[in-house]
Amino acid sequence: PQPDLDLASLVRTIPDFPKPGIQFRDITTLIGDAAGFSESVRRLAARAAAYRPDFIVAVEARGFLFGAAMATALGLGLVPVRKAGKLPGVTIGVDYELEYGTDRLELHEGAILPGHRVVLVDDLLATGGTILATAALMRSVGYKVAAALFVIDLPDLGGSQRLEAAGLACETLIA
Ligand code: 5GP
Repeated sequence: PQPDLDLASLVRTIPDFPKPGIQFRDITTLIGDAAGFSESVRRLAARAAAYRPDFIVAVEARGFLFGAAMATALGLGLVPVRKAGKLPGVTIGVDYELEYGTDRLELHEGAILPGHRVVLVDDLLATGGTILATAALMRSVGYKVAAALFVIDLPDLGGSQRLEAAGLACETLIA
């Protein structure tokens, strides 16, 4: 463990991606750094463990990178939440609002037995729309959402306040 490692210094900001005016936080430099990746996963897994989850739920696509590593570190199964049309089995889905238009996230029906506790993970919290849709999907099929964890928070976009208002505990490694 390297509790003093500065994870923020390993995240790169790319201007004007994917559109002009957007400052994209690029986590590929963080996961490409051996110490940075293992320390991010160690910190996320330690925070997840405090909620005593039965499963880790990871959001496509960058959430998979961290969620998969956390799940193996904790000895838990991983449940992927994917964009529409990617999962081969019978799915249940949720539509959610984007800045322009809507998007859809899906989960395999029966992926987890109702009543189990899950911790959600994604790389970054912006407006909170993606994770609130994921939490709503989980709750609609009877899973207990213990918390949502992120590597990065963009506090100016108000996601953490929105999650708090929705009763969803949230923790981030970098703000
Ligand atoms: P939200 O739904 O909270 O507005 O947006 C969060 C989602 O968009 C996450 O799934 C995240 O991966 C993606 N996202 C939005 N902006 C960025 C960014 O600057 N960097 C990265 N890595 N992901 C982003």
